Amino acid sequence: MAPPRRKTLEATRRVDLPPRPGRQRQRVLIADDDRAVLTQIRSSLATADYDFVEAADGTQVLTAIRTHHPDLLIMDVEMPGMGGVEVCRIVKANQGTSGFGFVPVILMTARRTGGKVEGLELGADDYLVKPFDMLELSARVKSMLRLKALQDTLVDKNRELDRINHELEARRLELLTLSRTDGLTGLINRRHFDERLEHEFSRSLRYRSMLSCFMLDIDHFKKVNDTWGHPFGDLVIREVASVARRVLRDVDVLARYGGEELVALLPETTPDDAWRAAERVRLGVEAMRLTHRDEAAGQTVVRCTASIGVATFPSEALDSSAELVKAADQRLYLAKQAGRNRVQAG
Ligand code: GH3
Ligand code: MG
Ligand code: MG
Ligand code: MG
Repeated sequence: MAPPRRKTLEATRRVDLPPRPGRQRQRVLIADDDRAVLTQIRSSLATADYDFVEAADGTQVLTAIRTHHPDLLIMDVEMPGMGGVEVCRIVKANQGTSGFGFVPVILMTARRTGGKVEGLELGADDYLVKPFDMLELSARVKSMLRLKALQDTLVDKNRELDRINHELEARRLELLTLSRTDGLTGLINRRHFDERLEHEFSRSLRYRSMLSCFMLDIDHFKKVNDTWGHPFGDLVIREVASVARRVLRDVDVLARYGGEELVALLPETTPDDAWRAAERVRLGVEAMRLTHRDEAAGQTVVRCTASIGVATFPSEALDSSAELVKAADQRLYLAKQAGRNRVQAG
């Protein structure tokens, strides 16, 4: 069997992190309105080989995060305009994968009381009180950057899992469709027809709406096979299926019921309308002209006809979905007996 064709699936959820170019060094954004502090921090961390970005106020911090995607933010609490606490709140409120992503924040303040609790409550990941020991700063920076690296790995793994889940779902849908489809005609197969029949029948019961059914069988089909060969017979079945599908409405269910038999369900359709639909299918089949090509005999135009039996629920003495299909089948038999190429209703 040929492998199922791959469909392009709409991703249901987009993971939208800003791109992380393959940089080796981790990037630290330092924000303080006091240049001396910036210089001091840079010089004490320089040996560790970080990339540095600097900002002097809250607005610059937010711009720098968007532009440079830092791995860590070390930020003064007291800055002109938007202070560190407010910026921290914004950064933490937007740490989803569609926002800034996770940026660990170390807040710095000269205040010795009160501020520490406030900063941590607002989601700062660590806190330093000025003047601070540079060795301590260096240790905390390292630990925050480790945290960030772990978090990034987690995000990457989650993204990979999302991708795999989408792929699995797409394969599941493909297999489901395949298991419901008739290979020759592309119509639904009998097994799935039985499911649709139950569904439509209970809908019809619940809403007291009419449900019509017709059964079609190609006339003298054995002769088609015998005369023109089995592959040509297959072509005839495919063409009859496509004529019927074209003639019916989208809501009508059309299935290959067996060899050269098709079955249709017409929801909310009266006996008269069902007869008319079946008659349109019959006329469509009658109008088909298929060309058989043979090296010896050349080209021959082949025509065929079909007989159809129609039944409707609840206008008949029918109690179940199986009886509806059986009634259509019995009328198909009557149509055959009456000379074929005709639609037989109740
Ligand atoms: P009737 O008018 O009474 O229906 O006569 P008929 O010859 O069509 O009789 P019947 O419906 O019983 O014959 C069906 C034939 O269809 C028998 C079988 O060999 C053939 N057939 C069944 N499935 C396929 C198929 O997938 N491809 C082809 N080419 N032929 C098939
Ligand atoms: Mg300050
Ligand atoms: Mg048959
Ligand atoms: Mg037949």
